Amino acid sequence: MTCSVLVAAFAFANAGFAKSKGTIGISMPTKSSARWIDDGNNLVKTLKEKGYDADLQYAEDDIPNQLAQVENMITKGVKVLVIAAIDGTTLSDALKQAHEQGIKVIAYDRLIRKSPDVDYYATFDNFQVGVLQGGYIEKALGLKEGKGPFNIELFGGSPDDNNAYFFYNGAMSVLQPYIDSGKLVVQSKQMGMEKVSTLRWDGATAQARMDNLLSAFYTDKRVDAVLSPYDGLSIGIISSLKGVGYGSADQPMPVITGQDAEIPSIKAILRGDQTSTVFKDTRDLAKVAAEMADALVSGRKVEVNDTKTYENGVKVVPSYLLKPVVVDKTNWKKVLVDSGYYKLSQIQ
Ligand code: BGC
Repeated sequence: MTCSVLVAAFAFANAGFAKSKGTIGISMPTKSSARWIDDGNNLVKTLKEKGYDADLQYAEDDIPNQLAQVENMITKGVKVLVIAAIDGTTLSDALKQAHEQGIKVIAYDRLIRKSPDVDYYATFDNFQVGVLQGGYIEKALGLKEGKGPFNIELFGGSPDDNNAYFFYNGAMSVLQPYIDSGKLVVQSKQMGMEKVSTLRWDGATAQARMDNLLSAFYTDKRVDAVLSPYDGLSIGIISSLKGVGYGSADQPMPVITGQDAEIPSIKAILRGDQTSTVFKDTRDLAKVAAEMADALVSGRKVEVNDTKTYENGVKVVPSYLLKPVVVDKTNWKKVLVDSGYYKLSQIQ
């Protein structure tokens, strides 16, 4: 055998038979929002680079569907489960079974609640997301400079998603003092997650609620700001506002926040319909979660940077928190395009 044939044979053996380090099960909530598609793709890519196969499933926001998908991954014997839960409390039995089989569990982005069988949590600083949203409203309205009073309405995320409470509480940590002093007025008086939450983060539900708020409380008043925790809700809220004439020279849009920096919402920011969003780089989150999975499989120490915040009802889950970033019309290009997250052609 000539030397070059030997080299080729060796290379073939390496490429063809490089042994996978095992399969990681990835359970994502839905494909209806671009961020989860990016999360899934980035996770698969990062895990591949580390030598793993991935079993990626989307549950289309259907709780029994997600449970069945996770159970199936356990039966197939994945090494680690990486789960972004639809409802953070519905997976306990399956996770118990996973642990009995030696499968480790990483909660991805959303905390899995009421289960002792969650090993680690990879996420963004969710309270800070809310602080950024509330802080944006504070700055845009000039509240620190004493301007006001302004009318505001509040929206919360899905009540079965632990993150929704962190976003709301973070935002209210900034806004509540102005509500108390009368510089911000919630004409509907609808405050607190039990009144303002939006089941399954559904944009149509937010739109219907905004329609009701506008017709019940704002026929002779202007709404100056809307706290929205997610771009998909903001889209519904914007439609509702446009439906009653906001977005014109004599009735400009209120300040409207968001989250996830999804492309339709960046376009809405450039049109002046939405004011800001919060970008959470899913490439970085995928890296953190893949690194955790790899460390668990290889028996290395898992890196965390928070061991206090995320109490899940049974235990404090050791977490790695990434930093969210506010995006508006002044910095979208730098944050989203220069970083390679989006191509300019996707937005303009
Ligand atoms: C995520 C947000 C997302 C929301 C709706 C939350 O759990 O942290 O990034 O906007 O779910 O999908």
